[in-house]
Amino acid sequence: MLDTQLIRSQYPILNRTVDGHPLIYLDNAATSLTPRVVVEAINEMYNCHKANVHRGVHTLSQEATDRVEATREKIRRHINAASTAEIIYAQGTTESINLVAASMGDTFQHGDEIIVTTMEHHSNIVPWQLLGDRKRIRLRVVPLNPDGSLNINAYEELFTENTRFAALAHVSNVLGTVNPVRQLTDIAHRHGVPVLIDGAQAAAHRTIDVAQLDCDFYAFSSHKMYGPTGVGVLYGKQRLLERMPPYQGGGEMIGNVSFEKTTWADLPFKFEAGTPDYVGIAALSAAIDYINQIGIDNIAAHEQNLLQAATQGLQKIGDLRIFGTAEGKEAVVSFLVGNISSYDMGMLLDRLGIAVRTGHHCAQPLMSHYDVAGMVRASFAAYNTLEEVDTFVSAVNRVANILRR
Ligand code: PLP
Repeated sequence: MLDTQLIRSQYPILNRTVDGHPLIYLDNAATSLTPRVVVEAINEMYNCHKANVHRGVHTLSQEATDRVEATREKIRRHINAASTAEIIYAQGTTESINLVAASMGDTFQHGDEIIVTTMEHHSNIVPWQLLGDRKRIRLRVVPLNPDGSLNINAYEELFTENTRFAALAHVSNVLGTVNPVRQLTDIAHRHGVPVLIDGAQAAAHRTIDVAQLDCDFYAFSSHKMYGPTGVGVLYGKQRLLERMPPYQGGGEMIGNVSFEKTTWADLPFKFEAGTPDYVGIAALSAAIDYINQIGIDNIAAHEQNLLQAATQGLQKIGDLRIFGTAEGKEAVVSFLVGNISSYDMGMLLDRLGIAVRTGHHCAQPLMSHYDVAGMVRASFAAYNTLEEVDTFVSAVNRVANILRR
């Protein structure tokens, strides 16, 4: 059992009200709230170590550099990568995926195929489409089973001699489905195809072990794991990253520059053009410590209790349809009541102080699959409580009764 009262005391934002109601924040899959220790880490960087990294001989610059590189080592350990050369700082999951699409995708050719799934976030669709438009590459899409899990047989059948890449979610931001990454990766590797895993919805809720998953790339965002905005991580296998051209040009990513010939820096810096978000990176370090202190398994177990209570409560509401019922799903519940629009439901819940996400969740192909314009989504984190879930379920019931009239 988590000490949720102690945890909650670390989030000043949880003391605020919305329209006179205590805030109930259930939009954690979009972004999590930030504990005081992480905000303090940001303040400490600004107040004590604010200097650009890697270039300076002066003390402050070295302190900032030490923090950025110590965080890289912390992330390496956190996800069990083989080397810090494999840990690239990016703005977030979106930039990480764009990096791989632009850099590795540069070698793809007309007629090549990339496998994605029906449940992907737009971040793991559109970069491949942009590449596809440039190179005339086709996307092949893995269909879903009725419970919102992937149809693995269909996935396997999508591989042809033209398949060059597979880009797959670890966890669906809408359905909560946890995909069997190792199995999916093994299948792709049997066909000689590298795999990128979009871990945006996994990093705050489960242990990430890239060695065990054997994926070639893994992307995640700090702001969804109690960390600051503006920073994320791309893990890539070193032998692949070494063969890939730089993504962006600028300072930091070069070996030597002349007008005749420019050479690239070694990994990971080859992919880190310009000043990194060193304040955010230092604060991400605090977020990782924070997660490890509570224990990711403890967080996950707590969230599963909340999910179970929410699911049981919602299921009692007539006309309510839950999307995504796969076994072992993560603590996300997306639903609609009758033909009530997700926006109307979300807006009235907000009037009661309850923050949920509404609309297409950046997964329009998935909305088309279910033939709906949008859904209401509640998603849980370590600081949410069973009382909040009860209040939320009653509020959905109340709002549904108002809107059904
Ligand atoms: N992938 C998934 C599954 C997501 O849920 C999100 C954000 O909601 C993203 C990618 C994009 O993450 P970011 O906006 O942090 O780059």
